[in-house]
Order: sequence, then structure tokens, then C-alpha cells
Amino acid sequence: TQAERPATRSTTPRPAPRAFDFSQLPGHKQIRLQHSAAEMLEIEVPYFREQSGYAGPTCMIEGRELLNFSSYNYLGLNGHPQVRQAAKDAIDKYGISVSASRVVAGERDLHGRLEAGLARFYQTEDCVTLVSGHATNMAVIGTLLGPKDVVLTDSYIHNSIVEGARLSGAARVTFPHNDFDWVEDFLDRNRGRYERALIVAEGLYSMDGDWPDLPRLVEIKARHDAWLMVDEAHSVGVLGETGRGIWEAQGVDPASVEIWMGTLSKTFSGCGGYICGSAALIELLKANAAGFVFSVGMAAPLAAGSLAALEVLEAEPWRVTRLQENGKRLLEKAQAAGLDVGEARGSAILPVIVGDSARAAMLSDYCYKAGLNALPITFPAVPEKQARLRFFLTSEHEDAHIDRAVEIVAEALETVRGRRLPFGTAV
Ligand code: PMP
Repeated sequence: TQAERPATRSTTPRPAPRAFDFSQLPGHKQIRLQHSAAEMLEIEVPYFREQSGYAGPTCMIEGRELLNFSSYNYLGLNGHPQVRQAAKDAIDKYGISVSASRVVAGERDLHGRLEAGLARFYQTEDCVTLVSGHATNMAVIGTLLGPKDVVLTDSYIHNSIVEGARLSGAARVTFPHNDFDWVEDFLDRNRGRYERALIVAEGLYSMDGDWPDLPRLVEIKARHDAWLMVDEAHSVGVLGETGRGIWEAQGVDPASVEIWMGTLSKTFSGCGGYICGSAALIELLKANAAGFVFSVGMAAPLAAGSLAALEVLEAEPWRVTRLQENGKRLLEKAQAAGLDVGEARGSAILPVIVGDSARAAMLSDYCYKAGLNALPITFPAVPEKQARLRFFLTSEHEDAHIDRAVEIVAEALETVRGRRLPFGTAV
């Protein structure tokens, strides 16, 4: 009412409202702690280092050429002239962006050709691509599952699967890494409580460089009327004689797995994710997956580049053989040097487990200064006592690169051994 209004307004100018200070949030405190820890250890923070030029078996950082074991360019296709030319031609024809969701105005011939190529490669009926691998996992699980369902995930599963399960509203159950007796037991006792059950595993685990027993998983899911999804981010182009991934490596019929997922950012040198599976599954996703329907179509140069990468992979299977030989060599050399490589099987990924996070960070810093780019993986990405340096191989690494990398790690371990931390504990 009139009586409640102030009679006059103050004429003194008020300061403009300040936006919230996000440094007050606990997550920001954590970041500051990380920086102070690096300072105390007298090391550089190893993240967000700017690379200039092509990241292959070597890379350029701060004007220095380093041996590079920190890129997912597994088959070296990101530097392949055919792949680069295809991307350039697509820019000339279409420009950089397709500027809209494919549903409305973003569809280009390259999308269909890439998807047909991937479906043929996987021997599935169809395929759909999305603009991010992470978003693909969220979209597919978020679309297919709901609150009456359960998602069973390996304890080492990627964050994007966890986020997808969360989005879906389904119950999420984590099983111990590769422990399928546990999965059997859970489903025997609980399958009836849920409408649908989805088991998710990776084709090659990026923390440990090991893989699941896929025939066993297929058998379990079939007996318990569950669905199976395999994330092949790190296994396509890497496992199997011709790089078709875990189904080729383990002799599984791809049609027995409901959902094949992969990313285009690694072997296929692009950016985006894909799902391969039945025609009905793909139709369903194209109509309902929010990350597809309400997001822009893949940029034409990226689709063209990944399509060319797929063609090169099929035409040059020697790249896969070479990568696998490199994997064996790195494993043998690391074991001979007495390094702890955990469960690694000698493929494109090798962890060197070194103990706690501070130790991993110091070792990585030593390696960096000695000319080797291999990043530390620390808590909470892995348990605190399992912190590690992680090596990703490419088919382009030469024997001498691998041998030198192992030498540097052994030297680093020797140098850092017994060094006392500023806060008293020895590492
Ligand atoms: N799944 C797995 C297993 C991954 O490792 C990653 C990323 N490294 C993703 C999905 C997400 O893929 P992208 O980085 O292409 O978005």
C-alpha cells in the first residue's frame, strides 16, 4: 500500500552489486592447496602446459623438444597427410561449423559417411556421432535408463559414464575392477528389483592398461537379461589384429553387445563420440538423446578428418601391429628395470605405480626436466598409495624413444628415493 512505501528515495549512489567470489568455495581451496604443495615440493604444476606444434612421439613445450608419452594419438593419424588434407578440403567446402543441430539444418554428407564407415568397422547396423565423447556417454545412458533401472559400472570406469548414470536417475552400483563373480552374485540376488539392468565396462582401462573378459561379460548379461555397453575410447585402433577393438581381440560377435561406444578424439584424431549398435538403438538416440538433438552437428573438418583416419586405419593395419609391438617393448623394458607396472598387459597404456601423490608429482617433474613428458596420476583419480606416472604409446614411437623413457624413469626413482618432503615424511 501507499503507506508502506518509503517517502523519499536515497540519492547517494550505491556501489554496483559485486558478483559472488567463487574462491570461497571448497573446490577452489583444493586448487590453492595443490599449488602450495607444488611450491613446497619445489616442482612445477604439470597441468595445462602449452604445447606448440604436433604432439607425436616427441612434442615441443616451452621451446624444448621432449619425448612424448602423454597423447592419445595412438596410431599417429593426427599427423597423417591424408587426414589433414581431408579436414582442409572440408573447410573449403563447408566452412568451420555446421552451425545448427543436425535435426534442423546441420546435416552434411560427411556425417552419414563417417557413421556408415564406423558401423561397417564394428559390423553393426548403424552408428550415430555426437560432438563430444563425454557428452556421448551422458546422452546414451541418460536417454536409455531411468529411475526404475540399475547401472553396474566397473570401479575404474570413466567419469562420463558415472555422470550419465547420475543423469538417468537409475541406481548405480560399482563393482570391484574386473570382478565378474561379484557382478554375477549381485544380479543373482538383485536383478528382480530393477526393470532394466545395464553393465558398463571399458575395452581398455586408461589408468591401468588392462581389459575385461568380454566373453564372460556377454554370457553374464545374456543370462540375467541385462544390457552390455563397452566404452572403446582406448581400445579401438589399439586392440585386435586390425585394430577393431576388444571384440576382435577376444573373438566376440559385436552383435552380442547392445551398445558400443567410442571417442573420435584418440585413434580417430578428431573430436566427438559415437555409438554403434542396432538400427533401432540409433534411431532412438537420434530422436531422443538431448546431447544429439539439442546440440550442434559435428564440425565438417572434424568429421572429414576422422573419416579419413578410419580409412587410413583400414588400409594400413601395420600401424596397429607397430603400436602393439611398442606396447610389448615398453612393458618388457619397464619390468626389466624393476618398475611396478601393476596389471598392465603390454598394450598402448602403461602405468608406473610409484606410491603416494607427492612422489608421483616429484618423479614426473624430474622426468619433465630430463626431457620426458609423462604426467602423474594422483589421488583422487587413483587410490593415494597407487599414484603413478602414466605412459601412452603411439605407433610412431621408435625403440630408442621407449628405451630412453624407461632409463629416465629409473634415474628419477633413484634420484627421488629417500628425498625428504618439506613436511617431514620421506618419499
Ligand atoms: N570414455 C573414456 C574411457 C575416456 O577415457 C574418455 C576421455 N579420455 C572419454 C570417454 C571422453 O572422451 P572425449 O575426451 O573424446 O570427450
